[in-house]
Parts: sequence; C-alpha cells; structure tokens
Amino acid sequence: MPKRLPTRERLHQIHRWACDTWDTPARLRVEKRLPKEYKGCLGCVEFPDEFPKGLPPLIRVLKTNRSQSAETYLHEFAHIVDCYRNGFAEGRKHEGHDAAFRNVAHEVLVRFVYEGGEAESLDF
Ligand SMILES: [Zn+2]
Repeated sequence: MPKRLPTRERLHQIHRWACDTWDTPARLRVEKRLPKEYKGCLGCVEFPDEFPKGLPPLIRVLKTNRSQSAETYLHEFAHIVDCYRNGFAEGRKHEGHDAAFRNVAHEVLVRFVYEGGEAESLDF
C-alpha cells in the first residue's frame, strides 16, 4: 500500500503522470491563494505570450481539499492539452470552454477516473 501523500505532493504526482501520459510540458504551483484577477476561481493557467513556444504553461491550483484540488488540476491541465491541439483559447467561445475543450476535458477525466490513471499516477 503506497503511503498517502499530503495534498500538495499528491497533486505534483498527478501532474507528473499527466505530463507523461499526454506527452505535454507544463508547470504546477499549488497555492494558498490565487492572484486577485482569479478571485472566486479554484485554479488557472498562465500561458507565455509566445505560446506554444517559451516556458511551459503554468497551472496554479488553489489548495482546497484533496479531491477538489485534483479535479481542478485535471480541468486546468485539459486547457493546456486543448491549446496545444486546437490553438490558444483567445476568441474561442465560453472563454475556452467550447466543444473542443470539453472533448479534451472529458478525455483527461475518463483516463484518470475510469481507465486506471488514478492508480498509475501513484507510481509517479
Ligand atoms: Zn476552465
């Protein structure tokens, strides 16, 4: 039985699994609070101006409880996979929460929850 990691470490473990599984570079910060412009949000992604070049996008997740933080993380990670695949969200509907995004978010969630990802990620 693997030992139960603290939330922050567990999120970084899921992050290493996700980056490896989708072969997608990203950075993660687990935060006590998010910048003012994200007030009311549980997470966000900061893309470099030169995306898809430049530093990998930065996921910032508010540290709430473990399952909520993980759910938020997977949502934000899906934004990154979506932007590499389908282009940057600027001008896309629903602030990037369009049909193309929803397909990717669904793929990420299904892989994690129903296709063994949660267990696999324990080895990362
Ligand atoms: Zn979103």
